[in-house]
Amino acid sequence: MRGLYIHVPFCVRKCPYCDFYSEKFSPEKSEKYTAAVVRNLKRYPVKFDTVYFGGGTPALISGKIAEILREVDYPEGAEITVECNPDVTNERVLAELKNAGVNRISFGVQSLNEGELEALGRLHGAESAKKAIILAHELGFENISADLMLGVPQQSVRSLEQTIDELCKLPITHVSAYLLKIEPNTPFGKNPPEIPDEDGQAELYLAAVEMLEKRGFLQYEISNFAKNGFESRHNLIYWRAEEYVGIGPAAHSYFNGTRFAVPRNTAEFLENHAQRELVTDENPDKYEEKILLGLRLREGILLDERIEKRLRLVPKELFRVENGRVSLTPEGFLLSNSIISAILS
Ligand code: SF4
Repeated sequence: MRGLYIHVPFCVRKCPYCDFYSEKFSPEKSEKYTAAVVRNLKRYPVKFDTVYFGGGTPALISGKIAEILREVDYPEGAEITVECNPDVTNERVLAELKNAGVNRISFGVQSLNEGELEALGRLHGAESAKKAIILAHELGFENISADLMLGVPQQSVRSLEQTIDELCKLPITHVSAYLLKIEPNTPFGKNPPEIPDEDGQAELYLAAVEMLEKRGFLQYEISNFAKNGFESRHNLIYWRAEEYVGIGPAAHSYFNGTRFAVPRNTAEFLENHAQRELVTDENPDKYEEKILLGLRLREGILLDERIEKRLRLVPKELFRVENGRVSLTPEGFLLSNSIISAILS
């Protein structure tokens, strides 16, 4: 399997917690950006099994997605995802995506609680998020994901349960639930809001796992849940250490055995004939990567003698061994960094 990631570095406005690379959108930049993506795609004349437009706010260039996808070689039935923010989603945007061949939408919902959305500085409210999901479904999208944020200012297990309850009644197939991280170079980093402490975050995370599983969304990765058969094929490529090409500023790639990244600089990306690709790992250690990435997944990794020996140091409730594979439990996922270091040390 091979994936294509396209980073669209534009947003309407920067959210105060966000460290993803993006800048203010303008229609002129989007013209130049599309041309630059097309130029770079020609440098990779290979087949892709999945395509993922992330950002930023890719829905802002919905009218350009068809032009970009025309340059991509992908088989019938390939998973093609576009991240959408509810505030920029309307019938025109969704119709453009549908006509371009997009078959999966990932909505940045974050919460269905007005106070929490406001605290996160989001431009949408709970109602517009629900309407966007329903509209996408009515227009024929059958594979819809929603991003949720855990550990948000003012969030309680009760408010989280209300959000999850309402969300799971909507026509969605997949949920990504990430803990809010305060990044240093963001307004939240400079002026941190009050958020749940480590124990509070752990409680919210474990509650989310239980609530989502009860509603038919099975955990298949630390932060990802899906109805049966709707796991993100694109993200599985990353976690199974398979090949992917990233186009656009800040995009990462793993291609021909090398990991590389494009600098976080839109002006440079628009100007250069070919994007600058800086090698981040010339020859990744396959064994180490399999452990690092594979232990994020519910399917886990193959158990071998070395791992078995190291696992003696890890409390039993943090992992499970089934059919010759080892995987982490939800409690183990919370401590995955230290478990992985224990195994690799
Ligand atoms: S969270 Fe999403 S919409 Fe907000 S600034 Fe970051 S990429 Fe843009």
